[in-house]
Amino acid sequence: MAPTFIRDIEPFQFIEEMRARVARIWRPKKFDTDIYDGLHYVLIDERGDAIHAIIDESHYPVVTNKMEEGRVYDIFRCHSRENDFPFKVIDHEAHLSFNRMTEFKQVQDSSSPIPRYAFNLLEFSELADKKEDQIVLIDVYGCLKSIMPESQVFVRNKEKMESKCEITLENLRREDVRITLWGDNARQFDVQAVQNRSPPILAVFTSLRITEFQQRITLSGTNHTCMIVDPQIPQRQEYRNEFSKPGDKVKILAIPFKQATQEELKDRQKKTVSELNMLNPRLYSSKPVCCSAKIARFSTHNSWWYNGCPICRKQLRQKQNSNEMSCIKHETQQPLPCYRVYVTIEDRENEAILIVMGEAAEQLFGNTCPELLNKQQEPTRQALPKEIENTIGQQYLFEIQPKSHGELIVKSISPDPQSFVAVSEQHPTTATPDRPSTEKKKNSGNK
Ligand SMILES: [Zn+2]
Repeated sequence: MAPTFIRDIEPFQFIEEMRARVARIWRPKKFDTDIYDGLHYVLIDERGDAIHAIIDESHYPVVTNKMEEGRVYDIFRCHSRENDFPFKVIDHEAHLSFNRMTEFKQVQDSSSPIPRYAFNLLEFSELADKKEDQIVLIDVYGCLKSIMPESQVFVRNKEKMESKCEITLENLRREDVRITLWGDNARQFDVQAVQNRSPPILAVFTSLRITEFQQRITLSGTNHTCMIVDPQIPQRQEYRNEFSKPGDKVKILAIPFKQATQEELKDRQKKTVSELNMLNPRLYSSKPVCCSAKIARFSTHNSWWYNGCPICRKQLRQKQNSNEMSCIKHETQQPLPCYRVYVTIEDRENEAILIVMGEAAEQLFGNTCPELLNKQQEPTRQALPKEIENTIGQQYLFEIQPKSHGELIVKSISPDPQSFVAVSEQHPTTATPDRPSTEKKKNSGNK
């Protein structure tokens, strides 16, 4: 019997034999859980048609001879089912189901006429029209411009915290679109791997839903979403030419302020600055406290950053008679500049010294530590960048973990809601606050 072509497959069929290339493979987890949900494939045949194929989770352990991505196989004995998922990965009325009886025989002939990829690529300008009645998930291609690494946000309709990672993609016309990855996809997004590649980073993001957030079309990852870096597709060369300019590095954005939930704040004891100075660390070793205060100044005798271990962030030591630096735990390492900022805070009665490091410092200063160092004309250990100085006089709500020796480490910082109320009551104004420059650019891109 002649092999079956993908376009001829109908639901509820037995397929004796077919030939296809594995265009992609992914292993999703069930929505909102930590449970794996089978092994998924997109297959494409020589006529360029694609189909979604699944090894169910219960078959997954017993199907030992699995297919590899990019290769062509003769596939024997599988079933088709109705492709009745609420959101379809591929626009086909059927999907395939493989089990232990299915046989995969790799086709060795590398000159096979089957395309390498099967994407449902949409132009950014087509997204708005497809938003209503979206059934088939879409794929987009572009140049990665910025990444906001994974952070926890409170998702109101789920009433819980969820991981989120945001990516901005630009097309040839330099229009951009934001892609939001959630949950497992956000946690597994490897920012370091992206940073280690030389720009431009061109990529396809697959199986996205079109949503609208603050009157802007955005794309939302699903559990079928994959990022495929630099696929060999026809648009590639044109994109490489356009995005090989000096400014086309991927920018790693600082995570915005975490809004502490009412629930979290209820558990925190609120302290005045005076009380902070008198905390017995033994009584608060696992109980962070809160304090609302103004930033008075920074002390620079200790510098505002140090050379840390890229793995554990501990301070690296210079090796004897060598330029190399080493970590107590991880031996020789390339130093990673890390924040350690001594900040003096004050309220009406007293002042106290806090230490701001890591993510809390990135939030406060809106940049990562290496970014701030790069921006400095003459980086000295003592000179404070303006991004740090600009926070002087601002009121914040600090979440503080007291440590031994009386050190007060900042766990998180949020703009103090009470101070906002106070300011606007005292100084009513009609001025529109400055919008971040990226926002302006985005708006002009849509005209
Ligand atoms: Zn280390």
